[in-house]
Amino acid sequence: MVDVRYETAFTLYPYQRSEDQDVDAPVRHPVVIVGGGPVGMAMALDLGQKGVPCVVLDDHDGVGVGSRAICFAKRTLEICDRLGAGDPMVDLGVVWNVGKVFREDRQIYDFNLLPEEGHKRPAFINLQQPYFEKFLVERIRVAQAEGAPIEIRGKNAVLSVESHADHVLLEVGSPDGPYKIESNYLIACDGARSPVRGMLGHDFTGRIFEDNFLICDVKMEAEFPTERWFWFDPPFNPGQSVLLHKQPDDIWRIDFQLGWDIDREAVVQPEYYMPKVQAMLGEGVEFEPEWVSVYTFQCMSMDQYRYGPVFFAGDSAHQVSPFGARGCNGGMQDVDNLAWKLAAVYHGEADARLLDTYNEERKHGADENILNSSRTTDFMTPKTAIAKLFRESVLDLVEHTNAMRPLVNSGRLSLPCVYDGSSLNGPDDNRMPVRTRVGSTLVDAPVNGGWLMDQVGNYFIVLAVNCEIQIEGLQVLRLDADPMVTERYLGDLLQAVYLIRPDQIIAARWEIASAADVISALQVAKGG
Ligand SMILES: Cc1cc2nc3c(=O)[nH]c(=O)nc-3n(C[C@H](O)[C@H](O)[C@H](O)COP(=O)(O)OP(=O)(O)OC[C@H]3O[C@@H](n4cnc5c(N)ncnc54)[C@H](O)[C@@H]3O)c2cc1C
Repeated sequence: MVDVRYETAFTLYPYQRSEDQDVDAPVRHPVVIVGGGPVGMAMALDLGQKGVPCVVLDDHDGVGVGSRAICFAKRTLEICDRLGAGDPMVDLGVVWNVGKVFREDRQIYDFNLLPEEGHKRPAFINLQQPYFEKFLVERIRVAQAEGAPIEIRGKNAVLSVESHADHVLLEVGSPDGPYKIESNYLIACDGARSPVRGMLGHDFTGRIFEDNFLICDVKMEAEFPTERWFWFDPPFNPGQSVLLHKQPDDIWRIDFQLGWDIDREAVVQPEYYMPKVQAMLGEGVEFEPEWVSVYTFQCMSMDQYRYGPVFFAGDSAHQVSPFGARGCNGGMQDVDNLAWKLAAVYHGEADARLLDTYNEERKHGADENILNSSRTTDFMTPKTAIAKLFRESVLDLVEHTNAMRPLVNSGRLSLPCVYDGSSLNGPDDNRMPVRTRVGSTLVDAPVNGGWLMDQVGNYFIVLAVNCEIQIEGLQVLRLDADPMVTERYLGDLLQAVYLIRPDQIIAARWEIASAADVISALQVAKGG
């Protein structure tokens, strides 16, 4: 038997008996992924499309009910584009770039997260997590039909894990009873409560924030603009905060901050939340509740994300509060980072020590997410009298001076980290723009009649900006120095050469480079 812990919104991978269940000795697989949430599915898609055979084990047969993550960042959409899954997400999602911050009943300022032209994707879309996961699985089905070696096993729950020096042994529960399999590598994408982490005895430490948030998804046809609206101390939730977001299907997400001492059973009853929502939306506005839930938030992390043949990715490795939308967006960057490294090692194109840099780089990214997320939560929930005084003073001043805006923290929204100081970084030239320094994600631009991001990714590539270079075994993309490319890639220089990793991270850059310079940086970027 396999426990059913949640109801599914979409049944996507019903249980089917596998051949591994009919043999005596455990079958060995190159990669097993535990958990078919967004991170596990994206990982399978990325690995499978790179020719790495992988098996996904999920204890359910589809995607859970409840919107959970709704804000998907530009970088996540670029990763999904690289995987071939971005279009349906953006087609259905609610696109937004602008946010407004209110205090009581006054708007105190607004902001635009993508104030410049020349990007294929917006700063954010809002899309219910079940749709996000469904589109990933649909893309996996297309990839499978094209020959990608991906297998999804629904209602396969991992019951125990034994980690050895060069492989992992798993016991898996199924509706037909338990069976065993082995894998050379295991990727634990089994969520914040990660049974794999527990079975292997690893710690997950951090902070639990003493606050509760009531999440009400309501269906209504409303005239609010498609922007992120955030209130400090509004009349409909005095002394607390409220966040409003539009989702597809005329669903609106409302987050009410409630404080610590509440009756968690009582607040999810209609008698409590219906009048609260009505007071916010105004008398006479008709709505229907779609999904109501109460949450406490925590920021937690493992000490390291790789233990021998076992990797941890997504919420199993790190968990953040949702303010800033860094949970799933951060997990997608884990996928981006690990899949090409594992594929390079699997295909014999890089030494296995490249895999250690997954921990180095993603720990750096997760620490940044946790820092930002903790600061937001501290600002929204000041713990001491002095912290409260600071917040109130900042909010008083921000109505009169733009200079105080950076101190208002209603959620620093997810951006990809820069891998400054990574051991995979090659030469840099600080006369070029800071935003495209070595370790950064490429900045999109319209080039060669399309988008730059669509022309790079999945393999190493060289950008020759306003110059020519030929390197045996490496594809070169020539870019003209139009004003946007110049602003993003040249600065005051007239030409440049950039080496780009398969995850669209800038590995090295020069004003003038020889083929030998690039090959040498390529070796470093593959782990030396
Ligand atoms: C209210 C809320 C709002 C959020 N908003 C945002 C947002 O706007 N943007 C954002 O980026 N993030 C947001 N998040 C965070 C986001 O939901 C998570 O970061 C994301 O779900 C993590 O994905 P995952 O694949 O790592 O784990 P999960 O989604 O937890 O998936 C884990 C999977 O593993 C399976 N599993 C567990 N145990 C086993 C086992 N023993 N054997 C086999 N399978 C197993 C589970 O069934 C599940 O399918 C929000 C979260 C919440 C709760």
